Amino acid sequence: MNQENLIKIKNLFVEYHTNKGILGGKKTIHAVNGVSLDIYKGEILAIAGESGCGKSTIAKTILRLEPAKSGEILVNGKNILTINKTELKEFRKHAQMVFQNPYASLNPKMKIIDILKEPLEINTNFSKSEIEKLIKEKIKLVGLDESCLELYPHEFSGGQRQRIAIARALVLSPEFILADEPVSALDVSIQAQVINLLKELKEKYNLTIILITHDMSVIQYLADRVAIMYLGEIVESGYTKDIFTSPLHPYTKALLSSVPQINKSTKKIILQGELPSPENLPKGCKFHTRCPRVMDKCKNCIPEEKGNSHKVKCFLYE
Ligand code: SF4
Repeated sequence: MNQENLIKIKNLFVEYHTNKGILGGKKTIHAVNGVSLDIYKGEILAIAGESGCGKSTIAKTILRLEPAKSGEILVNGKNILTINKTELKEFRKHAQMVFQNPYASLNPKMKIIDILKEPLEINTNFSKSEIEKLIKEKIKLVGLDESCLELYPHEFSGGQRQRIAIARALVLSPEFILADEPVSALDVSIQAQVINLLKELKEKYNLTIILITHDMSVIQYLADRVAIMYLGEIVESGYTKDIFTSPLHPYTKALLSSVPQINKSTKKIILQGELPSPENLPKGCKFHTRCPRVMDKCKNCIPEEKGNSHKVKCFLYE
């Protein structure tokens, strides 16, 4: 695999501040806590974890839709957290997002041709004929016929709408796409078509895809590498094959044990306790309140990340 670095996230922290109510002051949600991660050109990197673990916040921060508290996100060596408005406009041409819900992400009042034209008219100086040629190319690329360009979103199925959303993400020929739960709103019967389309785009066009999902079976089929998140931290990362055949972190083991298609032999690991609130993060290892292997030092000390291509953050591997 090509190992040229496209994105390098360094020690990223993201916080939200919300009001507690009439009596209370502000509360702080620690959404992302010291994430460092490399994303290589031409790979599908999955960021996985339970709802609320911070995976979607990372995606939004990479696109500068959320502000970071501290840290760096280097894209082709440039820290996109400090670029100015003009540079940000240019950056956004190269970074596109596919959202979870294709029913909500396409404007119901616009024809497909206008939905696909919009980003090109805003961001390029292409002529009318160049724009039309490009749109026809991209709609074919996602497996749809030119005739659909004159129709409206409601005339399509969920899977076809997600294909149109992917075509819209592709019209500016981005360097990478962030796909946030791209199939979870679709019927199971059509999920495979969209998953296969993403795989084909990566393989044929060397597209880099950052896949945000809680679905471990989608990751196993689609991703080259995976980063597992828990309470805003990456607790384990590596090649998908290594994570699925030899998971190290107790949280990863529990996640994988709960997927029947993957876990054919081992017993399901049921985690005790609730996911702690990101307002009140536990001291020490953040997983210690639910970890079946917890030791005394886990309650006060923070484990360091160890390993090279397969990394883990847990005292069991120090
Ligand atoms: Fe469990 Fe301790 Fe490892 Fe954390 S550091 S995952 S609590 S064993």
